[in-house]
Amino acid sequence: MSEPVPYLDLRAQLKPLRAELDAAIARTLDNCSFCLGPDVAQFEKDFAVFCGAQHALGFNSGTSALHVAMRLLNVGPGDEVITTPYTFIATSWAISYCGAKPVYVDIDEATFNLDPQRIERAITPRTKAVLPVHLYGQSFDVDAITAICKKHKLPFVEDAAQAHGAKYRGKSIGTFGAVSCFSFYPAKNLGACGEGGALVTNDAALAARAKSLREHGSTVRYHHDEVGYNYRLEGIQGAVLGVKLKHLGQWTRERQRVAARYAELLADTPLQLPAVTPGSESAWHLYTVRSSRRDELKKHLDANGIGNAVHYPMPLHLQKAYAHLGHQPGDFPVAEKASREVLSLPMFPELTDAQIQRVADVVKGFFGQ
Ligand SMILES: *Cc1c(COP(=O)(O)O)cnc(C)c1O
Repeated sequence: MSEPVPYLDLRAQLKPLRAELDAAIARTLDNCSFCLGPDVAQFEKDFAVFCGAQHALGFNSGTSALHVAMRLLNVGPGDEVITTPYTFIATSWAISYCGAKPVYVDIDEATFNLDPQRIERAITPRTKAVLPVHLYGQSFDVDAITAICKKHKLPFVEDAAQAHGAKYRGKSIGTFGAVSCFSFYPAKNLGACGEGGALVTNDAALAARAKSLREHGSTVRYHHDEVGYNYRLEGIQGAVLGVKLKHLGQWTRERQRVAARYAELLADTPLQLPAVTPGSESAWHLYTVRSSRRDELKKHLDANGIGNAVHYPMPLHLQKAYAHLGHQPGDFPVAEKASREVLSLPMFPELTDAQIQRVADVVKGFFGQ
């Protein structure tokens, strides 16, 4: 059998950076700035520049950044937040942590992102905000969502956990909503050596409050203005992220290379290949294809040593954790159909052309091509 192709190869990413990472981690050990500190502060500055935003704050996960984003918009018990049922569950956790209700709206068939056409019908007097996701690295329809939110005077938060470096009309995502949240989970496009996240905003007052909420609701030590959290980014992660951020632009271009090559090689297969939102540039966090024979195809890839994964096998409205919302199968048919048909192929910047070719050959073999 030919060489297996891993789904993700973090070792390949770390290897050329190892000396720089060792030095950055050693610097943290030397200065003992383990919670926030100078490396986190420098990374926050650099990440704000990367996003073209005024403020970026380091958090200990993308989930905690999303939670604080909801707090910044004063989302609380009795409130509703319109969001997508087709994402990683942390998007909805942020709403639930505030005692509010996630109100799901089905997705667009082609892009897997929140369908702007359906948002308006879901708005009620209790709607406090909208929380769309740039899923798989692909921006949602920013113009349409901005227009609807403006019309109804609702803020929106971008869940950009999968989309570092994605662009919409030439501008980095992360600056369109009132607040945007990123994850630095190791497998994300920019990953820490552990957990991490960021909250990005152009609003100085929101940034100041987020900084306080991140640190026990306090700006003056042992004086607490409101109920806050311990959501600080660790010093070591700030140092690691500072090293890796310098490579993110190049990594995104490599992901674009991989996506373009897959598109060429798989064009003649029965697979539905990922569509790109008009006017946008995907960050290609995942390369997710669709097939009505997904489960068989998955078995075939597994048997031939081709890494793959299903994002996501069950939409959020059907999760046990959200049974209390009372949803039934059939409530969001587009999301449910996607969950039966999607399959993510290997996607990381270091994938070689030979590996891409091998993935394509195995996929074509499945279809007898
Ligand atoms: C990864 C992810 C999160 C959560 O980020 P963590 O850093 O893992 O807490 C939130 N939303 C989406 C869409 C994600 O992919």
